[in-house]
Amino acid sequence: NTPLHELDPDVAAALDAELHRQQSTLEMIASENFAPVAVMEAQGSVLTNKYAEGYPGRRYYGGCEHVDVAEQIAIDRVKELFGAEYANVQPHSGASANQAALFALARPGDTILGLDLAHGGHLTHGMRLNFSGKQFDVVAYHVDDAGLVDMAEVERLAKEHRPKVIIAGWSAYPRQLDFAEFRRIADEVEAYLWVDMAHFAGLVAAGLHPNPVEYADVVTSTTHKTLGGPRGGIILAKKAFAKKLNSSVFPGFQGGPLEHVIAAKAVSFKVAATEEFKERQERTVDGARILAERLTAADAREAGVNVLSGGTDVHLILVDLRESELDGQQAEDRLHEVGITVNRNAVPNDPRPPMVTSGLRIGTPALATRGFTAEDFAEVADVIAETLKPVFDAAALKARVTALAEKHPLYPGLGK
Ligand code: PLP
Repeated sequence: NTPLHELDPDVAAALDAELHRQQSTLEMIASENFAPVAVMEAQGSVLTNKYAEGYPGRRYYGGCEHVDVAEQIAIDRVKELFGAEYANVQPHSGASANQAALFALARPGDTILGLDLAHGGHLTHGMRLNFSGKQFDVVAYHVDDAGLVDMAEVERLAKEHRPKVIIAGWSAYPRQLDFAEFRRIADEVEAYLWVDMAHFAGLVAAGLHPNPVEYADVVTSTTHKTLGGPRGGIILAKKAFAKKLNSSVFPGFQGGPLEHVIAAKAVSFKVAATEEFKERQERTVDGARILAERLTAADAREAGVNVLSGGTDVHLILVDLRESELDGQQAEDRLHEVGITVNRNAVPNDPRPPMVTSGLRIGTPALATRGFTAEDFAEVADVIAETLKPVFDAAALKARVTALAEKHPLYPGLGK
């Protein structure tokens, strides 16, 4: 029972440093969040020791009576949260959930239609080097000149290629998708509709975003982005797909489920059903709107900064730096210098290479979890706008970032 700091001071030091980084800087990577201590407690529990291949009540190992309880709670809660007929809480990650979902709906060689990675799609929606791109015949749709998903193109490509699966979902897109229209197109070409709500699941849970479960055959998600839980994946679906999806996850792609993570998922689903969670998601979306407004103001435009699609309906904005002196890498580095963590991101038809890019993706979920109000987000937005100007005062801006971090302590009591 030797504590970590004694047993392995090297790893402990890295963990301590990471805690300090999270506490002392502003985390604005759109796919990140801060899991509650109770979630981390479940995730760091004795359930990590248990083998439980199979599903609750139908395991291939003895001694599963307690993990069965935790997994069934997770299933029941997530079904209730999203109004789903079926849930699988075992996927180890979002990519694992997507792999299992895709192979349950289609066979290698079948055609799939998804949003181009360079226009905001995810690797698992058909990227060349991903399993989806290697094993399926991929057709990609795009955003139009206004930065919105081109539904006319989706329909045209669907009719031309008659895909087995149409994928709606994104990793970098600031607007809501028209699920009803996706459903109509899918029905017209007899395709399955799979929605990947990894990014916006928290907004759906809070009732701030249309619920794809009402439209799609299968919905996948991560549990660690806006949803604010442990790192992991889930699959929701109509009952008719239950058998196929269950066997695709196990034994199709996975062995023993991570029962400690599943217990942590259960805790996070309980949190996501609360009024407090809803209020947090409202601050998340408000914060993103405040960022978009500040970064489209006259002085930002003068510095060559713009916001794709002109604003946002969700938890993130996409900054367009095509007219700025800064490229995506330089802007990311500058923000890092003042204590704000974001990721550079390609804009559609980006003139710069993927490792450099001409854009930034900036998200508000983690800061909303920290307690940031509209006033705090206005201050963050101003700091970002000032940092992206040709001349900037790094020390003064960093002091403003530190003041905000100290105003909203993260994990108070930890790391002391
Ligand atoms: N789906 C979407 C839309 C995502 O944005 C991501 C993560 O970035 C994933 C799936 C994959 O999740 P994970 O990183 O847990 O595999």
